[in-house]
Amino acid sequence: MKYFTSGGLSVGGGGVGSGKVSEKETVRDGNAATVSGGEPAAVGGGDGATSVSHAAYDSKIEGNVIFTQVDAAINWMRKNSLWPMPMGLACCAIELMATGAARFDISRFGMEVMRFSPRQADVMIVSGTVTYKMALAVKRIWDQMAEPKWCIAMGACASSGGMYRSYAVLQGIDNLIPVDVYISGCPPRPEALLEGLMKLQRKIEGEKPVEEHLSSLLEAQG
Ligand code: SF4
Repeated sequence: MKYFTSGGLSVGGGGVGSGKVSEKETVRDGNAATVSGGEPAAVGGGDGATSVSHAAYDSKIEGNVIFTQVDAAINWMRKNSLWPMPMGLACCAIELMATGAARFDISRFGMEVMRFSPRQADVMIVSGTVTYKMALAVKRIWDQMAEPKWCIAMGACASSGGMYRSYAVLQGIDNLIPVDVYISGCPPRPEALLEGLMKLQRKIEGEKPVEEHLSSLLEAQG
């Protein structure tokens, strides 16, 4: 006679294959754990010295527990929820807008939440020509963003002034604010921006937020 339980296949009262299986032998989950007579399974050198109760190993709980480092957990959360501050200043901004559309789908990376408030943004994407007239406004918005924050220079103009070697254009936004990732192109395609964002994710993976926080605390204490 064969019958099934919720945990797996139990066999009793007959034989399976060539060997006889006693009524009390039960095979669970294919893990070769043998339970005889309702007693806990014995683990160890065969002399039964180490006995583990059923409560000590619960495969359901095991699947819900992760061991990691605090730095890795913080970085994982940060890199998958980067909210952009779209600093669209010229034609590159059209490609930035296209990146948010369905065809390219920036939300695959948790980055679709474009914030026009610097207080809610994590990464400033400078896309377009930075004139001196706009430069200080960009700097002010950057200063208003809370730490941690990152910056992407999207396109030739934001990275280096591009073709505008003129008195009116800042020759790269890195003259004013620190840039984490530069994206080449005039304009870069949305795929290039997505690649830049993924590079930024990899950069964030290598950061040490706990160590930095502790050292800044020590500095503040003198
Ligand atoms: S890099 Fe090219 S496309 Fe982008 S803002 Fe400058 S001129 Fe326009």
